[in-house]
Amino acid sequence: MLLETDSMSETILSVRNLTANVDGTPILKGVNLEIKAGEVHAIMGRNGSGKSTLSKIIAGHPDYEVTGGDIIYQGQSILEQEPNERALDGIFLAFQYPLAIPGVSNLDFLRVAYNAKRKHQGLEEIDTFDFEDLVEEKLEIVKMKSSFLERSLNEGFSGGEKKRNEILQMAILDPTLTILDEIDSGLDIDALKVVSEGVNQIKTPDKAYLVITHYQRLLNYIEPDFVHVMQDGKIVTSGGKELALELESRGYEFLEEAAIA
Ligand code: ADP
Ligand code: MG
Repeated sequence: MLLETDSMSETILSVRNLTANVDGTPILKGVNLEIKAGEVHAIMGRNGSGKSTLSKIIAGHPDYEVTGGDIIYQGQSILEQEPNERALDGIFLAFQYPLAIPGVSNLDFLRVAYNAKRKHQGLEEIDTFDFEDLVEEKLEIVKMKSSFLERSLNEGFSGGEKKRNEILQMAILDPTLTILDEIDSGLDIDALKVVSEGVNQIKTPDKAYLVITHYQRLLNYIEPDFVHVMQDGKIVTSGGKELALELESRGYEFLEEAAIA
């Protein structure tokens, strides 16, 4: 029975033997990853192993040149799609370092993004008042005050506020594939709890989640179904959530020892 339901759940993302360069230097060296609806996958690994590169390439960042392999999203290759098309089709990347946009209020930014998505789906745009009601409701998920909406996007936001704002965007845009790149970096334990509880509240079985983190701690709050370890541009080992605990206790060196043995 279990196998039957498993084979029926839809594959949202399939990364196939992906290789990529930055400025002519190979960074990704054959990444394979498959995420089905309802699954949370974690990628761990040392700094510089290629985790952010992978997430940016999935989102379509122009600095990275895909040199081989493919990225299949909901059954279609997205390599030729512009970043904004990918976003409109439901790929959401919460940045490790969210950008500030002075002069653009958070509320306007969210409304424009939300309406662009509705338009793309053939739905009517919603007006400012209805949108404010929607946002108010979502603010509770990330425990943000409505005064945040009037401020310029990310300008002067603390590390924790920026990350909560990323989760607010996720709550409003309702992405099919969510990628969280080091959403835990720079967060104290309280902010970490708010952010992860927010993600857990938003999470649904028809969506897919990729959580990138350097530390195991986050995975106590956002529980992964699968954990992958990236090293030198490749996923070198995969397992269940116990792999994260093993990494925590033994450090990344144990992988090298395992590789030599
Ligand atoms: P991680 O997120 O695992 O810490 P990154 O994907 O950020 O790793 O980086 C992987 C490697 O690619 C590093 O050696 C980094 O210096 C390099 N790299 C990433 N982005 C760029 C860029 N835009 N220009 C030059 N090198 C880059
Ligand atoms: Mg990174």
